[in-house]
Amino acid sequence: MAQITTAPACPRGESASLLPPPRRYHQLRKTVHLLCFLIFVALPFFDVMRFDIPKQRFYFAGQQLWINEFGILFFTLMFLLFAIAAASMLYGRVYCGYLCPQMIFGEAATALEKRTRKWINKHFIDWSAKTRKVVASAIFYALLAVASVFLAFVFISFFVEPRDLLRRLLSLDIVTAGGFAGAVTTLLTFLDFAFLRQKFCTTVCPYGYLQGMLVDRHTLLVTYRDGEGKNKACIECKKCVRVCHMGVDIRKSPYQIECIHCGECIEACDEVMARLKKPGLIHYSWGEHGESLHEKTQSWPRRLGLRDSKRVIVLLVLAFYASGLAIALSMRHAVQVRISPDRGVLFTQGPRGEIRNQFRLSVDNRGRQDAELLLTVEGLPQARLVGFASPLRVKAGESRLVHFQVEVESAGLAEVSRFQFRAEAQPYQTVSKHAMTFLAPQ
Ligand code: SF4
Ligand code: SF4
Repeated sequence: MAQITTAPACPRGESASLLPPPRRYHQLRKTVHLLCFLIFVALPFFDVMRFDIPKQRFYFAGQQLWINEFGILFFTLMFLLFAIAAASMLYGRVYCGYLCPQMIFGEAATALEKRTRKWINKHFIDWSAKTRKVVASAIFYALLAVASVFLAFVFISFFVEPRDLLRRLLSLDIVTAGGFAGAVTTLLTFLDFAFLRQKFCTTVCPYGYLQGMLVDRHTLLVTYRDGEGKNKACIECKKCVRVCHMGVDIRKSPYQIECIHCGECIEACDEVMARLKKPGLIHYSWGEHGESLHEKTQSWPRRLGLRDSKRVIVLLVLAFYASGLAIALSMRHAVQVRISPDRGVLFTQGPRGEIRNQFRLSVDNRGRQDAELLLTVEGLPQARLVGFASPLRVKAGESRLVHFQVEVESAGLAEVSRFQFRAEAQPYQTVSKHAMTFLAPQ
């Protein structure tokens, strides 16, 4: 159970001469935003994570997963679900403040608008204020339109193969599903970043509301701590409010739904109070009354947020799904072969008395290279394949179904003979064996 303490006027207890430098969350966020943007763009283009709807394939970590590979898809989805739940429980809205594309591009749009206005005001000082405003807005909207096409292209690339999508874009296709989705997403992206931005987070996005259900009294929060009466240190400069992208006054409550826990108000207050040689009044803390994130006296698991058995269990479940996913991926064969007997007719007999049994082979090439499938019969002397051209060529991403027969001379053949098919796929060098029975007349 966490120790609940009353906040002192100097919450971290430092003497003024030992004050730490102001914490730099703004620069940290901008660096993380840039990395996230690069990852967002790279994910679909390098098949790190992409769901190809037309082909019904899920690309994950460079592997091409088929929609029927239930085990891997199950572990992937459960892992992502628990990762979001664990991150929300431990670190609150760190996703919103640091990783969310809506927040990243919303802030970028605001910065672009401000810079455009500033540039116009600086270089065209002779124009009237109204003209400058109109021209700045026109330039901003034009730039935003180009950026919206790019962002929509990247977003739709998560669902449609990027080269295919580029072809549709260049031919101005808005008729096919992919082209139409691209056009609609471009329009929505433009409207979102032109007019909504952070309003989206507080009105449309369900994650903020979901977060309310996941937090508990140990979740990382942004809290304001000050003394009372004469001990009150806040100088009411309101810099913490001015820097907030969400328009929040964190001094009112750490539980405001608009607060995305970005930490920019912490940095702002640190800077103000540093000039007065006092520590800042806003902190990341484990719960409203818990220890500050930066208190050096905590053990490393507590500093990481591991504060109770519930958190350990959530992380163990996360580790379980991560292990399951790793095992499922390691056991996966690029070429999947299934063979089954076709028992509509038990056997047929040829003119020379030879016996034939019918089989059905289905093969999925989930790899990126064309494959050749070599099929042989083991344990059934003098057996011959009829209707199967071995090696069978299967293109990358292709599925094939082949009906064929196994033929054996009848002399000395038992009523039921056990044998196996050996399927070797090149260049993947995978071998699978399939136990079967061969039926003959009594
Ligand atoms: S920045 Fe700090 S001192 Fe200024 S109003 Fe906010 S909490 Fe008070
Ligand atoms: S109150 Fe502080 S932590 Fe919350 S959104 Fe505003 S700047 Fe970020």
